Amino acid sequence: MPPRLAPLMTIDAQSAECASQLNVINPATGEVIGHAPDAGQYELDLAVAAAQRAFPGWKATPRAERQQALNQFAKRLVEHADELARLFTLEHGRPLNQAKEEILGAAHWIRGIAQLDTPVEIVEETAQRRVEVHYDPLGVVCAIVPWNFPVLLASWKISHALITGNTLVLKPSPFTPLTTLRLGELTRDLLPAGVLNIISGGDHLGPLMTSHPGFAKISFTGSTATGRRIMESAARDLKRITLELGGNDAAIVLPDVDVEQIAQQLFMGAFFNSGQVCVACKRLYIHDAIYEQLRDRLHQLAQNLPVGDGMVEGNVFGPIQNLAQYRRVLQMRDEAREAGLTLLEGGPVPETGYFMPLTLVDNPPEDARVVTEEAFGPILPLLRFSDIDEVIARANATEYGLAGAVWSKDVDQAVTIAKRLDTGTVWINQNLESSPGIPLGGHKQSGFGVENGVAGLMEFVQPKSIFIPKSA
Ligand code: NAD
Repeated sequence: MPPRLAPLMTIDAQSAECASQLNVINPATGEVIGHAPDAGQYELDLAVAAAQRAFPGWKATPRAERQQALNQFAKRLVEHADELARLFTLEHGRPLNQAKEEILGAAHWIRGIAQLDTPVEIVEETAQRRVEVHYDPLGVVCAIVPWNFPVLLASWKISHALITGNTLVLKPSPFTPLTTLRLGELTRDLLPAGVLNIISGGDHLGPLMTSHPGFAKISFTGSTATGRRIMESAARDLKRITLELGGNDAAIVLPDVDVEQIAQQLFMGAFFNSGQVCVACKRLYIHDAIYEQLRDRLHQLAQNLPVGDGMVEGNVFGPIQNLAQYRRVLQMRDEAREAGLTLLEGGPVPETGYFMPLTLVDNPPEDARVVTEEAFGPILPLLRFSDIDEVIARANATEYGLAGAVWSKDVDQAVTIAKRLDTGTVWINQNLESSPGIPLGGHKQSGFGVENGVAGLMEFVQPKSIFIPKSA
């Protein structure tokens, strides 16, 4: 079935549209390929009211039934994976096979999170009394998602909120609303009305949501700048918040690695999804002894791996997802060039669309913008080091603290270094790994709270201690 390019919102399990619409652009061509409703206060109020009505019933639904509904939801995603993947590539740009991996990954995640539980804990049991801690859902959750992993990150929020008994109003990014809206259309019959509402809108809608008094919690993934605004907005009525924000992740490569063996994985850790990954390697620290060898191998990969329209089979990298981000990354590259830094560019890219050659920056100074800022695009600084203490200090010298990696044949030494990195995740001889059972979150300005694992579920519940006397 060809993808529907004007899916509608889901409010109270019904189709909902509005008078104005957003244009959705294919970043591989720059052309408008679809439309999404541009909701405002009226539609938001309807969605919040529907979620509030649904909350008592969903909270009282046995956990096993909630899990079953989420498993059905995941199954529906798998059944429609091809249709959703095509829509995804058209609005996002990522190659079709990788788009399908995201849809299947979302289904895997929903099943994985739905298995987790926050059972009642007995924290005291004496002859006189028993004290139980129950974990109650919070109420209606506001979920706001960015454009870089639109379906996967939506699936995280849906699964966490719903398995714990909350109801949800979810907003995709205005750059990538279509696949998420379609997902809502395809799953309307699987959940009670109002449990999951999906609305879309332009830049005005996020702030309307975060200041809406009907929400008990905000689950947000996006930039640190927006995260700060959300925290301010949430303060007014003490909404609970989880903020998954930006990163400027360092990978440290020690001199004992096998360069040939790890080069491609290192490369993908930085350039997968054209570098638009929160936990991508954004600063690659390479030991002096292997610097030239690894740099030249990475440059060779940049020259040979194909970049182009994600609908064309064989392309490994797509465009930058939207015009604003494209301009920002180009400006960062041009600034590096004007500062006299050495750029090692990859192979040719299409002339139309938001494409840029995969680019390495050869040992820029530590205070260059391309090192200090999160590029969130296909440009990677390679930085020389010779001393372990010094490189750890450089890796930690950032306001961010999302993830990091250490590459070495000496795993014990790598673990010692990992313990000294101020980040929420550290990978050793791997990258971009995550799983529904493993908490992911940022230190410092990379976030507040975690997603995934039981710790992720805890962000969607509140403890309630019940004191039960042994005799009346
Ligand atoms: P963004 O902050 O611009 O937008 C994210 C979402 O917030 C969008 O849906 C947007 O419409 C909405 N929004 C914008 N302004 C808002 C406001 N004032 N109030 C409420 N909502 C608002 O981020 P982006 O450019 O879409 O995403 C890229 C950023 O996301 C990068 O910094 C990246 O590192 C980060 N990110 C973090 C994680 C993580 O898990 N930590 C995962 C993916 C992306």
